[in-house]
Amino acid sequence: MSFLLPSSETVARREAAFRRQAYPGATAEDWGDWRWQLRHRARTAEAVAKALGKLSSREAAGLANPRAWRMPLGLTPYMLSLLAAEAPDGPLRRAMIPDVREGRVSRGEFRDPLGEVAHQAAPGLIRSYPHKVLLLATSDCACFCRYCTRARTAGRAACGWAKALAWLRKAPEIRDVLVSGGDPLTMGDAQLEHLLKSLREIPHVELLRIGTKIPAVLPQRVTPALARMLRKYRPLWMSLHFTHPDELTPRAAAACGRLLDAGIPLMNQTVLLRGINDDSGTMLRLNEGLLKMGVKPYYLHQGDLAAGTAHLRSTVARGRDILRRMCGRTTGYAVPLFMFDRPGGGGKVPLGPGQAGD
Ligand SMILES: *Cc1c(COP(=O)(O)O)cnc(C)c1O
Repeated sequence: MSFLLPSSETVARREAAFRRQAYPGATAEDWGDWRWQLRHRARTAEAVAKALGKLSSREAAGLANPRAWRMPLGLTPYMLSLLAAEAPDGPLRRAMIPDVREGRVSRGEFRDPLGEVAHQAAPGLIRSYPHKVLLLATSDCACFCRYCTRARTAGRAACGWAKALAWLRKAPEIRDVLVSGGDPLTMGDAQLEHLLKSLREIPHVELLRIGTKIPAVLPQRVTPALARMLRKYRPLWMSLHFTHPDELTPRAAAACGRLLDAGIPLMNQTVLLRGINDDSGTMLRLNEGLLKMGVKPYYLHQGDLAAGTAHLRSTVARGRDILRRMCGRTTGYAVPLFMFDRPGGGGKVPLGPGQAGD
């Protein structure tokens, strides 16, 4: 494997220089505090422009048209430091900075691409399979990715879990609960523990999973106290969401290490994104880098048909080609399954890697 992280001293120096320039009042301790990071999220075009300085014309136009945004803007100072390290129009910047094309709904796109409204067993509880459910624990995220499937609810008030829990208690066929959102790790330890404890008290719920992008966008959130709390609720697995090797920083690696030390196996889900990660070199670096951090690449998702994401969606043919190129060139562990979540909520179907010539 040939993937190399930039040395941690280089990254630390770059991060500190960004903090001093963009947040002159902040100490290194503030920067390491996840609550400080959440409180200082950039939510306006002005805040992003101020932090990043030079913008491409595409970025400037996207930021200048909030009425075209498909969802709110929200970027942690930490994520802004990664965006600032890229050139204008860099890969993470395309994934995280609004684009005027977000306002255009293409043929065949849906506001609710996975039919989640129709598949709600209870408020915030999506059931597309007989034995497993998805619990949308919160609508908040540390950062809003522009390709989000749930743009329709992102940043809105969540509905509470009482009804979802009541439904689950009476559904003995459900053995696997995936807690996602939004991002469940934007909640405080006490609130998250309350939810996990309530789920653990349901005898037929054997497996708990958490879906989170926190290690990529706000690794400071993974404190030793959080890891100690999560440890109590095993078997608990986590699906992370790294998109590009630029997210594989020493802080992200340390956050994953704390979770692994707590006995939580880590998987990763990536969305195939046009011009961002849809080439075999980038996918190799991402997935080999994840393995080195102890994270198993699980799913590569073909972008779903969410309204206003056509400019970010790659093609099934490209995804298959990337996986074919990866097979045999890298550790088998590094190769994810290529999946498509069917519109309307029919569940996920595998698209590959498949055999050469498929
Ligand atoms: C993806 C998903 C799951 C989990 O699926 P796995 O393939 O087991 O990881 C569960 N419920 C819903 C609604 C989903 O979209």
